[in-house]
Amino acid sequence: MTTYRISLLVGDGIGPELSECVNRLLINIHDKSSSLKFEIQKVEAGDNALLKFNSALPETSFSTIKDSQACLKSPVGESAADVVLVLRRYFKLFANIRPSKNYPNIPAISKNVDLITVRENTEDLYVGWEFFSDEDTVISLRKTSREASRKISEYGFKLASKRANKKVTIVHKSNVLRKSDRLFIDTAKETSKQFPDIDVEEMYVDACSMELVRNPNRFDIILTTNLFGDIISDEAAQITGSIGLAPAANIGDKFAMFEPVHGAAFDIAGKNIANPTSFILALKMMFEWLGEKYNDKSILNQSIKIDKAVDKIFTNNIKTKDIGGNLSTFEFNKKFIEILDQLGYE
Ligand code: ATP
Repeated sequence: MTTYRISLLVGDGIGPELSECVNRLLINIHDKSSSLKFEIQKVEAGDNALLKFNSALPETSFSTIKDSQACLKSPVGESAADVVLVLRRYFKLFANIRPSKNYPNIPAISKNVDLITVRENTEDLYVGWEFFSDEDTVISLRKTSREASRKISEYGFKLASKRANKKVTIVHKSNVLRKSDRLFIDTAKETSKQFPDIDVEEMYVDACSMELVRNPNRFDIILTTNLFGDIISDEAAQITGSIGLAPAANIGDKFAMFEPVHGAAFDIAGKNIANPTSFILALKMMFEWLGEKYNDKSILNQSIKIDKAVDKIFTNNIKTKDIGGNLSTFEFNKKFIEILDQLGYE
């Protein structure tokens, strides 16, 4: 029997509702499984924490996260950069992984999509190096290093080698960003030599945005830099249905953080109508990561069961309002737990 220490960051907007859904799921697995146990530590961060403690990431929250083996992070509002960027930097979470795929009975622009955006997570324009050169002009600096490009490329190619289609599309804009993106593609291509069974192609980011709408099935792994990956993964989430279904993982060598792709969605907060699937799928990604890190078959099987339960719940047309159903957040979550129970626990 293994006990995992999980920090659960509660966040803002729909964050508290989504966190409660995932909390209930974890408690249910903890109670019914004989091989998997969780110590769940809830932590406050974001706009609510800023009002309460005068800090978006209070020291007690930060130290609880540091003390955990992985973090489940629900959406944070206006203070997102003071939480997410700090955690990404501190834990060196170099890879941002965002899967997009179709599920049964979910209205979508495109069918048969199953792709993953592998986005560099520490550099690019997101380093935040901006200054006024005069009072009407801002200069923003973009960072691209060989080391970060190599790390994300290795991650992308390794991930591709575990998948059926075994294809990597390197997405960039090297015709304009001649030095930075040239360094990125050259490094990615150099890395590709270690993976001779992977099919490699290159694409400009503007062409990629069009292809995602016109012919998304051609993609398997999209390997790209931070800003392009942020935009492309939202597009990829939308063509497969709803942003309410899209999870993301922030992966480092020792620690990882899992979250929905979407933000705090203040327009629907507190109404019990948000779709918790994005966070449930983030939980699935966390189980997969913990399973591989600790070589634990039991938690890996639990991640497969979450995937099966998501397929099953949508096959049975059990859905929240955003994807054409009529269930509330917590009614959907309760049904999800029932389906998970039917699949059984080890
Ligand atoms: P950010 O700027 O941080 O991305 P945002 O609130 O502007 O945050 P999102 O929260 O990412 O934007 O999502 C945009 C809209 O999509 C929301 O306003 C909401 O209506 C809808 N939405 C987002 N997440 C969900 C969800 N889990 N369930 C249902 N609808 C959602």
